[in-house]
Amino acid sequence: MATETFEFQVEARQLLQMMIHSIYSNKDVFLRELISNSSDALDKLRLEALRDDALGADVSDLHIALDADPQARTLTVRDNGVGMSRDEVVELIGTIANSGTAAFLRELKESGDAAAPAQGLIGQFGVGFYSSFMVADEVTLLTRRAGESQGTRWTSSGEGTYTVETVDDAPQGTAITLRLKPEDTEDRLHDYTSPWKLREIVKRYSDFITWPIRMAAAPTAEADDAGADDAEPAGPETLNSMKALWARSRDEVGEDEYHELYKHISHDWTDPLETIRLHAEGTFEYQALLFIPAHAPQDLFVQGYKRGVQLYVKRVFIMDDCEALMPSYLRFVKGVVDAQDLSLNVSREILQQDRQIQLMHRRLAKKVLSTVKDMRSAHPERYATFWREFGRVLKEGLLGDTENRDAILGVSSFATTHDKDQPTGLAQYVERMKEGQEHIYYLTGESRQAIENSPHMEAFQARGIEVLLLTDPVDEVWVDTAPQFDGREFRSVAKGDVDLGSEEEKEQAGTEREKQQEEYAGLLTWMAERLTEHVKEVRLSSRLTVSPACIVSDTYDVTPALENLYRAMGQ
Ligand code: ADP
Ligand code: MG
Repeated sequence: MATETFEFQVEARQLLQMMIHSIYSNKDVFLRELISNSSDALDKLRLEALRDDALGADVSDLHIALDADPQARTLTVRDNGVGMSRDEVVELIGTIANSGTAAFLRELKESGDAAAPAQGLIGQFGVGFYSSFMVADEVTLLTRRAGESQGTRWTSSGEGTYTVETVDDAPQGTAITLRLKPEDTEDRLHDYTSPWKLREIVKRYSDFITWPIRMAAAPTAEADDAGADDAEPAGPETLNSMKALWARSRDEVGEDEYHELYKHISHDWTDPLETIRLHAEGTFEYQALLFIPAHAPQDLFVQGYKRGVQLYVKRVFIMDDCEALMPSYLRFVKGVVDAQDLSLNVSREILQQDRQIQLMHRRLAKKVLSTVKDMRSAHPERYATFWREFGRVLKEGLLGDTENRDAILGVSSFATTHDKDQPTGLAQYVERMKEGQEHIYYLTGESRQAIENSPHMEAFQARGIEVLLLTDPVDEVWVDTAPQFDGREFRSVAKGDVDLGSEEEKEQAGTEREKQQEEYAGLLTWMAERLTEHVKEVRLSSRLTVSPACIVSDTYDVTPALENLYRAMGQ
């Protein structure tokens, strides 16, 4: 097939322009991205070979190789992983499929400044393969899919178009050759053909990669500098230690290393908020290394969001997004679980039913919740970030996970009438409860303002009783599951009779009410008759101080918003 020329998508072109102008201050990360892709490709091939005897791919020496040519000013990153078919190249490399990049562009649009994106935005999102164009003015990708006979060559200078041609003699896997920008040649700090530089980058960003990253021992300019007798050793040099971080002892691993692993598996460029380690011994042994990210992905509430952590079995990567390991309300947690006693052929279906996996799932959920609890007391600012980003998801757990309901309530925060800006924890609410107050009061609504203006609030405001202001859609639902906190029930200020105040006050109010009841009996009957289609009952109220009337639900009636929700669900 002849060489075909394609145009990049509009978004891709926009992104490439940014890469060419190097919006990231740290260009070294391009190598991390390429190595990360190669590592994924090797994982995929090993798995495919394991499941398909007929694949016919050689998996005896899976590795990544870096090949620098100082004279030609090129750097090649090569792997003998799964490779890509011609269609895959066009689909995966020519468009922006990668979720991190898509999210980056969406944020960019929202921030309204695509020409000069805010510095804070840059660096939050990975841009994967395209980051090659930070250091290269031309990129060539030569690849052959395992199991196919023909390969594909893709070339672009990142300026709007790329070419694709079919080739006969491509080795299996992928080789990406960067023609390095001339301006970096002079600068030792950015000399990506220097073995010293490559060693440093791999050590910093990719040490934990489980595949060997080798560097060819070609005679280099640097070796000449150092003197002919002192040349590089013959044969390739492996640059990374390949040690799985979760299998190393805690004090041996620096925080930076954990963060790099997080970036590799999450495709996020921001450090995580928390790193969680867990080592379970006994009949079912496993190690877990989990991360709580610092920001929520854009698609967290989109149906089909891929949740779950990576599953390894005895250091062998088995699957991404293993949903059996994490409850849905912790779907933002990233990480790795490495189990000793599972089969390499384990499937998602088997995992869902496996009793040991269910136990692991429970243990991991508890561990994440206890980490959030500790974070709240030890690092309140970090916790505030956590709650802003993930609070809404976490509260979903109040619906299904009865076992952890108390723990979830314990780490939750709510907007409150007590403080305009700071949300409150329930323990603080309880401490502030008035003499004689038995319940935790809340009101749900669309916004803080809507709730504050509700006539239901009047009696509570008048008495200085704190009310939680619940505005997330999920709040409507969990408050209805009749939870308690610290032995206290949640009560809507919009439901049933409110009995505020001391016994004495109540008694006094009672006699007064009886009198009024008689006085207004005629009016109430008349109103009830007029409104018979719309309301169950018309009664005098003690809850209002300013407004003449309000609509109330019975204590066990569904709220209007919930009624709508159920209706929408077809119930
Ligand atoms: P991401 O890694 O986040 O998906 P990238 O831009 O880094 O995004 O890569 C896009 C896609 O191109 C990858 O998901 C993968 O399918 C494919 N790809 C990139 N590099 C390789 C490679 N070395 N081998 C096989 N496929 C690759
Ligand atoms: Mg990538």
